[in-house]
Amino acid sequence: MDAPSLPRRRSLAVDIGGVRIGGGAPIVVQSMTNTDTADVDATFAQVAALADAGSEIVRVTVNNVEAARGVPPLRERLDAAGYRVPLVGDFHFNGHKLLAEVPECAAALAKLRINPGNVGKGSKRDPQFTTMIEQAIAHGKPVRIGVNWGSLDQDLLASMMDANAGLAQPLPAEAVMREALVVSALGSAERAENIGLAADRIVLSCKVSNVQDLIAVYRTLAARCAYPLHLGLTEAGMGSKGIVASTAALAVLLQEGIGDTIRVSLTPQPNGSRTEEVIVAQQILQTMGIRSFTPMVTACPGCGRTTSTYFQELASRIQDYLQASMPAWRSRYPGVADMHVAVMGCVVNGPGESKLANVGISLPGTGESPVAPVYVDGEKTVTLKGGRIAEEFQALVDDYVRATYGGEPRAAHLTPERRTVAIKSVA
Ligand code: SF4
Repeated sequence: MDAPSLPRRRSLAVDIGGVRIGGGAPIVVQSMTNTDTADVDATFAQVAALADAGSEIVRVTVNNVEAARGVPPLRERLDAAGYRVPLVGDFHFNGHKLLAEVPECAAALAKLRINPGNVGKGSKRDPQFTTMIEQAIAHGKPVRIGVNWGSLDQDLLASMMDANAGLAQPLPAEAVMREALVVSALGSAERAENIGLAADRIVLSCKVSNVQDLIAVYRTLAARCAYPLHLGLTEAGMGSKGIVASTAALAVLLQEGIGDTIRVSLTPQPNGSRTEEVIVAQQILQTMGIRSFTPMVTACPGCGRTTSTYFQELASRIQDYLQASMPAWRSRYPGVADMHVAVMGCVVNGPGESKLANVGISLPGTGESPVAPVYVDGEKTVTLKGGRIAEEFQALVDDYVRATYGGEPRAAHLTPERRTVAIKSVA
């Protein structure tokens, strides 16, 4: 579902290994591995997990010869396993050498990410940047010119600060830094075009870690070019802070039509799943009504009317089930991502919210009869009770998906004859 009411900035379309960024294409969700790319087994497992979670492009680190040599077998393993997800190589400092020394790495990648602040210092910078762009052209690959606050070209920044200091009314240093990010990105893109890279082979990003800076920088960038823009708050952080900061920044820009692809740069909890960044990126787009990825679960926050955590457990169980089912459901049940499930804690808002969902359940609150009416497309169908409410509700959701999005026969417990029959208690 693309939200027709939201404006989109007009941008060039860039093909990334079969996935289109810009030109009005749906906003693409991407992610990045944190494995050593030389470890093909570990990187394959993580790319597959990210792709299963819905990442449409995955970036991998290419920081040395071993990593560069790991890319072609990684691509082969992914293809053999049926994963078509395009791979992007992340290059810094020595990318010019790696691309020349391991040309099969460039051939296996769908895009090269080049950070103009990290391609070399002084007189080495321009020739090394040129080598990387020439490699991209030789292999027919697009490039993301990815400027980052933490590695901004210091020569450029120093010259802009000097020029600003000479003005009658100098701008604040912060404004000069923002402008330097934009100038670095646009200047590098212009150089790449002068070397021979087509404009529709260039994606830009200017990542910073502060929400207001990110919004200001991207508004400027969007106004000054037609390249598609990769949005992301860099070093967003861990847990709720990272999620909130990324959402606050990206939501403002997306609402203004700015952004053609997004990445949420979360720091995973120790041993946490890397796929969280994909799910958060999808949820930003889905809750804004821009794209649908996974059926949404509406759950009330709970209050003094709930006597246990049962409804929280049921909401969590259903959400996990829907998420885990999506890799199989995505192609088998078109439209299922638009489904809406409600899990509510009591009679106050439970029936009303459940009726608005495709499938909803209103669990009993304090002092209520221990039964849980289920609503399907606004109509009360069955009333569950006993110790297997969670399993039975999950089966009802499953049935709804098969019947509504797969055209399969509806199971007996959703037929009109069963609508007045409470499922037998097994408690
Ligand atoms: S639906 Fe009921 S349990 Fe949930 S927050 Fe509202 S009053 Fe509380």
